[in-house]
Formats: sequence, structure tokens, C-alpha cells
Amino acid sequence: MALQLVTIPCLSDNYAYLIHDANTGETAVVDVPEAGPIQRALADNGWTLTHILLTHHHYDHIDGVADLLATASAQVIGAAADAHRLPPLHKAVNEGDTLRIGSDEAHVLDVSGHTVGHIAFHFPDSKLVFTADSLMALGCGRLFEGTPAQMHASLAKLAALPVDTTVCSGHEYTQSNANFALTIDPANEALISRADAIRVARDKGQPTVPSTLAEELATNPFLRAHDPVIQTHLGLDGADPVDVFADIRARKDRF
Ligand code: ZN
Ligand code: FE
Repeated sequence: MALQLVTIPCLSDNYAYLIHDANTGETAVVDVPEAGPIQRALADNGWTLTHILLTHHHYDHIDGVADLLATASAQVIGAAADAHRLPPLHKAVNEGDTLRIGSDEAHVLDVSGHTVGHIAFHFPDSKLVFTADSLMALGCGRLFEGTPAQMHASLAKLAALPVDTTVCSGHEYTQSNANFALTIDPANEALISRADAIRVARDKGQPTVPSTLAEELATNPFLRAHDPVIQTHLGLDGADPVDVFADIRARKDRF
């Protein structure tokens, strides 16, 4: 049976996620921007936290860990490469490692770019991937530490997962990402209709995450640097997709 997923808005525009295995009762949270909303979601569902999975060291993904551990005894898991700047880890993981939440297994992916040491957690059986600030709904994280080539490779890794994978990303940036994406890929019908749906959802105050990998492949310009229509639109016909990606990312930084 697939893990149950709960999306939790935190701070002004962050998301944490709970995943719960109904058979064993094990429950993990992915990222902890703040403890309060996560504690409320656990209480609402009657779940007991057993694992804390951390994607990267930025404060808006880890700041609530100490408060959460004050009321729950959970195993903290994060990247070995970032152990020095994450809260104390019970388990430090690297790309290719696996970890078990209930009856499901997560594969750790190195998705460096936003930071060096950013990881994603992929649960193939439940068809979930937790991408935080690597692949985001219609966007990708800003390159604070990594190079365009690193982020491009990280996104390619995520793009190669099954298309029916649910993409659980870390922020509600989708509206502005959509406005930007339309400047890169203005004739993309799938993007135009997704942008409309995003506007409707945000007008109602609804989250635009999670999304599906199929949607991202069809509409997210950061996954489409190889697309001839986008390359022509940017005046980069036949360019190396890494260079096209770098150009799109630089335009987004100025947007
Ligand atoms: Zn971040
Ligand atoms: Fe963030």
C-alpha cells in the first residue's frame, strides 16, 4: 500500500510534507521550516512522528527541527555532505543510499545546484519524490552554491523518474514561476492552461503543490532546455542544453 501524503504550508511560502505508512504507523516529515504546523498535522491525523528527512541546510527547511524533537523522538536523516551544517543527524546518507519508511523504501538522490549537498528522496513504490529547492513546480531553485551544469544534471536525474511520479517541492513560488515560464515558452498550450489553473488555485488560496512529473516535463522551462522551440525563442538554436539552461536560470534571476 502506498504511503499517505499530507502537504503542510509553513512560514510564508514553504511546504513540509508528512508521509505515513498505515501498516506500521511509521510517519516521516520531509523538511521542518517550523514545528507548529507539523505538530498540528500530526495531531489532526493521530500520527506519531518517527523520522525527519532533511533535503538541505537552509534555515527555512530545518529551523523547526529542535522544537519538533522536544515533543517527538524521531530519527533525523540528512546528507552526509552537509552533516556539518544540518541539525545533528542520526543517519547521514549519500546518493544511492536507501532508507525505509514503513513498508516503502526511499532512494537518496544527490540533486546539488541550489546548494551543494541538496538531496531528494524518491519512493518508487509510492511514486513520490521530495525535491524541495531542486525541481520546483514550474521552476527550480536559485543557484546559490552549484553551477548550471550541476543543476542541469540534477534536474535530468529527476526528469528520468517515471512520469507518474508526484513531485513534492518546497515552496509556493508557482504563480511567479508561471509568469516567468510564459516569457520563455509563450506558445506552449500545456503551459498556458497550467498557468490558468495556477491562477485559479491561488485565488482560492489553494496550494499548487504537489505536481506530477508529467506536468513538469510538459511545462517547466528548466526541464525543457533541449526543446527546439525554446532554443529558437531565446536565439540559442542548437546550443548545448546546459548553456540554454544557464541562460534560462540567469533570466529568472533578473525576472
Ligand atoms: Zn533553500
Ligand atoms: Fe527554501
